[in-house]
Amino acid sequence: MLNIILFGPPGAGKGTQSAKIIEKYGLTHLSTGDVFRYNIKNETDLGILAKAYIDKGELVPDEVTNNMVADFISRSANDKGFIFDGYPRTIAQGQNLDAVLQKMKATVTTMIALEVDENELVKRLLERGKTSGRVDDQNEDTIRNRFKVYQQETSPLAHFYSDQNKYMGVHGMGTIDDIFERICLAIEAKLPA
Ligand code: AMP
Repeated sequence: MLNIILFGPPGAGKGTQSAKIIEKYGLTHLSTGDVFRYNIKNETDLGILAKAYIDKGELVPDEVTNNMVADFISRSANDKGFIFDGYPRTIAQGQNLDAVLQKMKATVTTMIALEVDENELVKRLLERGKTSGRVDDQNEDTIRNRFKVYQQETSPLAHFYSDQNKYMGVHGMGTIDDIFERICLAIEAKLPA
């Protein structure tokens, strides 16, 4: 299995690049943000709970997110593997992902981290907010809070995976195709010869 974590701050291009990676490698896409938004739209209990956090730019609690991910993985058998987009976002989530994959005798293959500077990210998010309908993309304070949460809670995961020799940084500026090419090179470097 090829299990890729696509990592990076809000607005780094994880969703856009995920779509291209899935097409090329036949992976199943798990975007925890998309699953939460689907639940919010359908007004499920999970959606109602998650909305309170998402609208403020806070993380949904680990236990809720981890249960949702375990459930998603158990329902979507794909021998080729998964792309994790927006998950894990805390060390506890990283440990949970290891445990869930271990049950399937699988592991995380690599973490691909998109590196983009913050001013560019704010610009991209405010632009996306004009058309995405996402409340959390429309307010600069919420966006800045998401960066703060990212720095405090999510960025330590880079060490978690670099300690396991799985971290690959990729320059996330330039055209979509240029960035995709860099990502593919990083993935190929992790594939068995
Ligand atoms: P995203 O679509 O990945 O930008 O996620 C949008 C929002 O959903 C985040 O700001 C969080 O509030 C919530 N969210 C998404 N993924 C996670 C996660 N792995 N853990 C906790 N909250 C999450």
